[in-house]
Amino acid sequence: MEFRDLKHQYQLHKTEIDTAIQSVLDDADFINGSMVKQLERELAQYVGVKHCITCANGTDALHLALMAWNVGKGDAVFVPDFTFFSSGEVVPLAGAVPVFVDIDKDTYNISPESLETAIEYVIHKTDLKPKVAVAVDLFGQPADFSRIRQTADKYNLLILEDAAQGFGGKIEKKRACSFGDIATTSFFPAKPLGCYGDGGAIFTDNDEWATLLRSYCVHGKGKDKYDNVRIGMNSRLDTLQAAVLLEKLKFFDEEVARCNQVAEEYTKRLRNFVKVPFVKDGMHSSWAQYTICFHNSRERERAIEILKEKGIPSAVYYRKPMHMQQAFSDYQFMELDYGVTESVCNCCLSVPMHAYLSISDIEYIGNVLKNRGETA
Ligand SMILES: *Cc1c(COP(=O)(O)O)cnc(C)c1O
Repeated sequence: MEFRDLKHQYQLHKTEIDTAIQSVLDDADFINGSMVKQLERELAQYVGVKHCITCANGTDALHLALMAWNVGKGDAVFVPDFTFFSSGEVVPLAGAVPVFVDIDKDTYNISPESLETAIEYVIHKTDLKPKVAVAVDLFGQPADFSRIRQTADKYNLLILEDAAQGFGGKIEKKRACSFGDIATTSFFPAKPLGCYGDGGAIFTDNDEWATLLRSYCVHGKGKDKYDNVRIGMNSRLDTLQAAVLLEKLKFFDEEVARCNQVAEEYTKRLRNFVKVPFVKDGMHSSWAQYTICFHNSRERERAIEILKEKGIPSAVYYRKPMHMQQAFSDYQFMELDYGVTESVCNCCLSVPMHAYLSISDIEYIGNVLKNRGETA
């Protein structure tokens, strides 16, 4: 059994994907090929924003956004305490200070109340200037953007939507990557829309930021890449990856729909003995992960062992709160509380989730989890 079945997906669409890859090889159009521009147009249209700028990966996408906003020394950037390292890593890279924020106990996304507490703390107890709130669409479910927007407006913050896991999700009819002032995603193979290597994209409606982003991602180019008007980076999506993504985009909605059915089937079977994912009214998840919670860490570790014995892969996303990562030891704010993140880190477990998981696999996983300790 696969945690995320990329092999099956490839076999199903092998002919189209191979043809697309072959055409890039034939054209030897590896960097900035026409397919990159086409992909940017299609992604912008899919999400419903004016600009899509592709780049090398989801981490660079976040970093580039902070560069476009000139975030740096003396700025505070608020980041959920429960997320992948990148969401916070880019903040010191840009020269600013990450301030971690506890999560909502049901959705595991950044808690709007804790965000406000952290902002007030920064204003009254530090010399930092609150500048950006990073909202992560964790496990595929969009963050609570209506509340986050109110808070951002109140304190004059920019919202950076980290939709590395959220691409394909929606709030009502509006798609993920359209909620932040700038939004980013990742095309890492295991993400909802994955390519065959590294890749990322940045989305915004703002023309000025889009121009800056296009410059920063190609050596701070002016007229062209040999006219350098600012210090930038080399962060591009290559044409082979664009070719793969253009093919995958054609069946992406179908896969997301199927993942939603898988989630429903899991929830039916699991809801009575573990805490199942909670998707808020009006929210649609793209199901980057299906993450359950046990009562305590002992129960979780035991489940991991039993699943492994039965040939079922599982993974802990995430074991360590951001504020406890050694890399962030310079950015400790003892007065802020991370109780929810700490308890979720101890109890959470992600189980196989992809569009090709069969009912019998779900049934099997459900039974193994239900009969933990007994023979499944
Ligand atoms: C994967 C991920 C990233 C980073 O994406 P890469 O393409 O691997 O650099 C950033 N944020 C979150 C929440 C992620 O899950």
